[in-house]
Amino acid sequence: MKSACGQHHALKLDPMNNSKYRLEKIEVTGIVQGVGFRPFVHNLANAHHLSGHVVNNPNGVVIEAEGKADDIESFVSELRGKPPTLSRIYDIRREVLKTDRASRLYDSFAIQTSEREGKPVTLISPDVCVCKDCLRELFDPNDRRYLYPFINCINCGPRFTIIQKLPYDRPFTTMQSFSMCPDCKGEYENPSDRRFHAQPNACPVCGPQLQLLDGNGKALPGDPLLTSIELLRSGKIVALKGLGGFHLAVDAINEEAVKRLRERKRREEKPLALMVGNMEAVHKIVNLSKIEEEIAGSRERPILLGYRRKDPPEGYQVAHSVAPDNPYLGVTLPYTPLHYLLFFHPRLGGDYANDKPVFAALVMTSGNMSEEPICKDNEEVLETLSGIADAFLLHNRDIHVRCDDSVINVVNEKASLIRRSRGFAPAPLFLHAPVPQVLAFGGQLKNTMCLTDGKRAFMSQYIGDLENVPTLGFFEEAVSHFTQIFELNPKIFAYDLHPEYMSTRYFMELKDQLEESSFGAVGVQHHHAHIVSVLAEHGLTGPVIGFSMDGTGYGLDGAVWGGEVLICDAATFHRFAHLDYLPLPGGTAAIREPWRMAFSYLRSAFGEGWKSLNLECLKKVSPAQLEVLDQACDSGINCPQTSSLGRLFDAVASILTIRHYSSFEGQAAMMVEMLAVGENSNLHFPYHIRKDSLETFDRYPVIWGNILESGHELEVNLKDSFIVDYTPLIRALVEGVKRGKSKSKLAAAFHNILVDSFIEIASRAREITGINDVALSGGCWQNRILSERFQALLKDNGFNVMTNQHVPVNDGGLALGQALVAATIALEKD
Ligand SMILES: [Zn+2]
Ligand SMILES: [Zn+2]
Repeated sequence: MKSACGQHHALKLDPMNNSKYRLEKIEVTGIVQGVGFRPFVHNLANAHHLSGHVVNNPNGVVIEAEGKADDIESFVSELRGKPPTLSRIYDIRREVLKTDRASRLYDSFAIQTSEREGKPVTLISPDVCVCKDCLRELFDPNDRRYLYPFINCINCGPRFTIIQKLPYDRPFTTMQSFSMCPDCKGEYENPSDRRFHAQPNACPVCGPQLQLLDGNGKALPGDPLLTSIELLRSGKIVALKGLGGFHLAVDAINEEAVKRLRERKRREEKPLALMVGNMEAVHKIVNLSKIEEEIAGSRERPILLGYRRKDPPEGYQVAHSVAPDNPYLGVTLPYTPLHYLLFFHPRLGGDYANDKPVFAALVMTSGNMSEEPICKDNEEVLETLSGIADAFLLHNRDIHVRCDDSVINVVNEKASLIRRSRGFAPAPLFLHAPVPQVLAFGGQLKNTMCLTDGKRAFMSQYIGDLENVPTLGFFEEAVSHFTQIFELNPKIFAYDLHPEYMSTRYFMELKDQLEESSFGAVGVQHHHAHIVSVLAEHGLTGPVIGFSMDGTGYGLDGAVWGGEVLICDAATFHRFAHLDYLPLPGGTAAIREPWRMAFSYLRSAFGEGWKSLNLECLKKVSPAQLEVLDQACDSGINCPQTSSLGRLFDAVASILTIRHYSSFEGQAAMMVEMLAVGENSNLHFPYHIRKDSLETFDRYPVIWGNILESGHELEVNLKDSFIVDYTPLIRALVEGVKRGKSKSKLAAAFHNILVDSFIEIASRAREITGINDVALSGGCWQNRILSERFQALLKDNGFNVMTNQHVPVNDGGLALGQALVAATIALEKD
């Protein structure tokens, strides 16, 4: 620790110098590097009359602070309470080095250069939306960065997506090819400037520039921004380079234009996200609660899923094609200077100072072919999106790492992540206790992977559905990027038990290249991983009563699980209850065709009587084909057994004649939820719970270094297992449909019965085990009605309820649970 990179500022010491001084060492861990933390500490120390110094170390920053005890106290409390915008303090540790001294050791407070020894700085800030100060400059005609789309400072701008390796320093970012002009360099080197050590610092003289190309890749004349705005106004589709990749933008009010985008992108009904200029306009499009407003305006700038307004004012009627038949609209506010310029360009009628945007809303959807990863490179986008985009607004600041927008909805007055990506990744989640390095590969859909090291769990950005070669390529990209950038070399792996998942196959191929004795690996059951992800977030080890409710996950018996109540800890589980097994007619085809599951439930509920039901859902294929399917269900040919709650939702959607086919995962279930919104039903349909006669799996299989072992035993000694049979409900629903009862009331009653039956199971589990903690995870909990009602009822019954907050409840959170299961088993083996 030699040279000081900042100036020593003379300290205004107490002239009387009659009080005692103390010297403290203060260690701050968290995201405290590359976020303006040291200059902040420096200024704060001066304000509190402290001397000493601050320096980065591999875990964070270390401060030596010297002064009066009171001053040190107020310094620490301000440090904790109002740290720099982008920092995240995880822990502050204090140690008194000297006390009751008559004079000081240090005569000033200094910023020292980073320690170069040891492992490099290990935390990277996510990308963050442009800050208020930069926006003010952006629209100030007298500022040297007036209308400059790459303005940023230490409090905002790109981070994760431009960093190639650590330490976080300009030569290791995609800004390396731009050398700073004297003005920018001056700011960069001045500790009292907002751009001190802001690695992406740039200006129109020295920084990146925009370029606009037509659909064939030919440069278009004129100002790229102004022309882009005019193209958008005339209904054209423009591909825009953003922070973590390209977006396709189009005027969201223009039905023709949105339709054209859908056709060209070959995206049938999956909702498209909107970008809206300001909060006032967001209110005109969706109904926002206070907390939703906070989330939409947060610096992470996620896409917020809000209930759409039934009566949007003139000019804010979003085109039907944006989200056909969907109760939700995804909205985000602008988050890059470029977005703000599109919405508020002063030369085309925008007015930032008076908050008057040019557009009511723009569709802002990932720039990709359906289901493929978001494009990030200029050449890549020209190749992939020619034929979709009418123009390409490019620039020459490369994106090193792809990162999609994050998506959040609000459940029970709390943010619930649907997709954790831009703005969040790669900030770690902090675990309660240190664990070994584990690499967890996640699931198949909405894949993310997770890497743990000590108390930190690094979740990757959203990778997507591993169902095509480009997405698998992105997955491999992310695995190698994370291990390299954090310099980790995990020897313990965790994967889903489903043999056909691409993430599992990826591991199996990797495994063949490893020496058998050199690693450990755990195949983690899907629904167990879901619940353990909740334990990981809440710093618990269990046991807990876990309600793991989703569409599909590979069961220990090879069946398609999905409605599972597990008594579990972080290493193993007992399958306490599950939805009754039913055939899944046609296997995965049933996921896209909810009528198939309706058929399965109806034949199960009515026996041969299904033939005389005369319901709409039984008319999707010819009677002869239904007979064939009936026999297939009996013989089990291409009809695996399933206990999925997602499939029960599908069946109900089809029986209620809301949806017989789904064009994206969860669509039918979402429509059942939509029907029940705001509907109060006193109907409580019947269900039946019975004891399971089958032998259940008490031990969790563990593959360790290629050897199959039986795993750890659950502390709670459990023999009982239960099966929940919803066929009585199906009979009641059919009765309701035949009598012409309101579909909304029936949908509400369906939600009621689920909650009734769940609370009964939770109570039985508590009676038998004495466990009072309940954890909810799995994609079905994205259903607000189900989640809010069940959580309220659990609380009324004295249960302690927890669910995912920092990772998605859907399969996007699986990797965290997998990692913790493997880590726990590894620790037990030590
Ligand atoms: Zn800024
Ligand atoms: Zn410059």
